[in-house]
Amino acid sequence: MKRQIVIAGNWKMHKTNSEAMQLANQIRIKTMDITKTRIIICPPFTALAPVFEIIGDSKIHLGAQNMFWEKEGAYTGEISAGMVKSTGADYVIIGHSERRQYFGETDETVNKKIKAALENGLKPIVCVGETLDEREAQITLKVVGKQIRGAFDGISAEQMSKIIIAYEPVWAIGTGKTATPEQAQEVHGEIRKLIAELYDAQVAEKLIIQYGGSVKPANAESLLSQQDIDGALVGGACLKADSFSEIIHIAEKLQ
Ligand code: PEP
Repeated sequence: MKRQIVIAGNWKMHKTNSEAMQLANQIRIKTMDITKTRIIICPPFTALAPVFEIIGDSKIHLGAQNMFWEKEGAYTGEISAGMVKSTGADYVIIGHSERRQYFGETDETVNKKIKAALENGLKPIVCVGETLDEREAQITLKVVGKQIRGAFDGISAEQMSKIIIAYEPVWAIGTGKTATPEQAQEVHGEIRKLIAELYDAQVAEKLIIQYGGSVKPANAESLLSQQDIDGALVGGACLKADSFSEIIHIAEKLQ
């Protein structure tokens, strides 16, 4: 049986508060008929609280795109897990490749953030994925394996049940290039095997593994039909209510 499909939208650094509220409202209206798919929207920090008001008692969940691991203190410009939680968010994206690439995030900082998120009742969406050079050098599984071992160091099986992994090949993010369903399935299958090794078969079986990298309505069905692809982390196509809700409706029909 297919696991529940989870579709998350990463708005990145897009949308002022009024634009964000408008988009959230359109998504809310267009997904009112959805009963099976879990929907998560991740606006920028500034729009979290206003968007939470808009999604109200709909089934849409709210997530942040990042957070810092310390509770509070002299960390100018940073936002703690508790602050994120206080906006109404219950998810947080951690270790997105853009954060690793432009803001120096490492497996170690990802690990600290995951722990702080869990301590504050936030469910982490942990991103892993290889660069084009790494894929061409045929070290994809090694790279992803290292990211996973580093990210989940000291994380218990019970905590693992609150975590989503997003496999996002860096070469497919924002490029219009998508991994083929077979390429994505191969890595998803290996991630599940590794989680079974690190934890157990039950934890691995329940784990939600999203695919991310230029997911759009045209390729959503073939990706989401794969056995080990349990959802999508969507960038570009989540900025328009039409395309985001189309992906959600495709997911809904597959369950
Ligand atoms: C992302 O930001 O996580 C992403 C997958 O972006 P896009 O869908 O635009 O490739």
